[in-house]
Formats: sequence, structure tokens, C-alpha cells
Amino acid sequence: MRANDDLRGELLTLVSALKSHVAGETDSCIPVPRLCLKGAAGLDGVRVELGDCTRCPLHRTRKHLVFGEGSARARLVFVGEAPGEEEDRQGRPFVGRAGQLLTKIINAMGLEREEVYICNILKCRPPGNRNPKDDEIAACEPFLLKQLEAIDPEIVCALGTFAAKTLLRTEAPISAIRGRFHDYHGRRLMPTYHPAYLLRNPDAKKLVWEDVQKIMKIL
Ligand code: URA
Repeated sequence: MRANDDLRGELLTLVSALKSHVAGETDSCIPVPRLCLKGAAGLDGVRVELGDCTRCPLHRTRKHLVFGEGSARARLVFVGEAPGEEEDRQGRPFVGRAGQLLTKIINAMGLEREEVYICNILKCRPPGNRNPKDDEIAACEPFLLKQLEAIDPEIVCALGTFAAKTLLRTEAPISAIRGRFHDYHGRRLMPTYHPAYLLRNPDAKKLVWEDVQKIMKIL
């Protein structure tokens, strides 16, 4: 078992190195097809490429990098803002109070957490849960895009103002863009309120329910 794990790790490192090499061949006169592994192999490759990331200053204050979790073949991916204190402690996304509410929403949709994929714009906690900075987003978002390419979901659900504004490159408030599908790199993206907002504003739960029902109709 150990030998198998070692071999798998070695293979993933090789695949990741090959992908970086191919991606760098832009001025080659031979058109090189873009390599993109789907599912678990692709996702593992992204994890290997990310490594023990030091691409932005948040690595200095994080306890754990929070990569994301769930099905590598999920048809639905939830994207939040950034890990909070509990997520940073456990190295898992959405496991605090807001996370428990997200789990309830997922269950109400007739799904289990393990059937969807859950991640964030940022993989490391901003100190004191401050808003993510532009350089942090610039360093981290390419990996989110690679995760989405590997998972290849039908729908991305952006949780909250920050995720929606960042992914859609808009300044429009969440109240103006939620509840309808937008295009995100050729995929359907549904912005809705963040579960942490729902904890403070329980009246908005019915709006989130309307939004996720639109997702359920497609899945
Ligand atoms: N809030 C987020 O946006 N993401 C988490 O993982 C937890 C709380």
C-alpha cells in the first residue's frame, strides 16, 4: 500500500511537471494540445502543483492551507470567500457555524456534502477574517480555475458578495446579481447569499432557497 502511495505521488508530480512544461511551450511552432486531467487525477495534480504554497503573504499566518473537499466529479461546486478560524484550524472548508448552515442547505437540496465540491476564492485565512486583498486573489484564483477545470461541474454557486464580485469581475451588489445564472468561463454560475449572512439575516433564507431551487432544476 505504501509503495502504491509513493508511486502515485511520484506520478502526480511528474504529471504536474509535464503540464507546467507543456503550458510553457507557447512559442513552439508545433501546436501542443492542452493537457487537462479530469476528476481525481486532475484535482490531485492541482494539489501537487499548489504544494506548500508561499505565493502570497497569507502563508505566514495560516495554520493550514484549505484546498477544498468533496467529489472530484461533482456537478455542483460551491465557492466561498476564504477560510475562517475553524477552517484554518481543521484545514477543511466551511466547517464552522456558517459551514454547518451550508451543509443544511446542501442536504435540503437532496445532496450530501460528499456529492458536491466546496472550496473558496482564497485557500488561506486572512488574519482576523479581513477581506482578501487583490494580490492574494491574483495568486490564488488560477488554482481555483484549475480545480474547476479538473472537476468540470455544470454549475458553480458563488456564496456571498465577495465570491460573486470576484468571480464575475463586477462591482454590482449581491442583491442585484443573485438568483440568476451568469457565465463564468463557459459555466453557469449562480450567485447567492453567504451562509454567514443568513446567520445574521435569517429572512434571506427564503431567497437562497429560491436560488438553489433553480440549481436543483438543472441537476
Ligand atoms: N466562510 C467562507 O467563505 N469560507 C469558509 O470556508 C468558511 C467560512
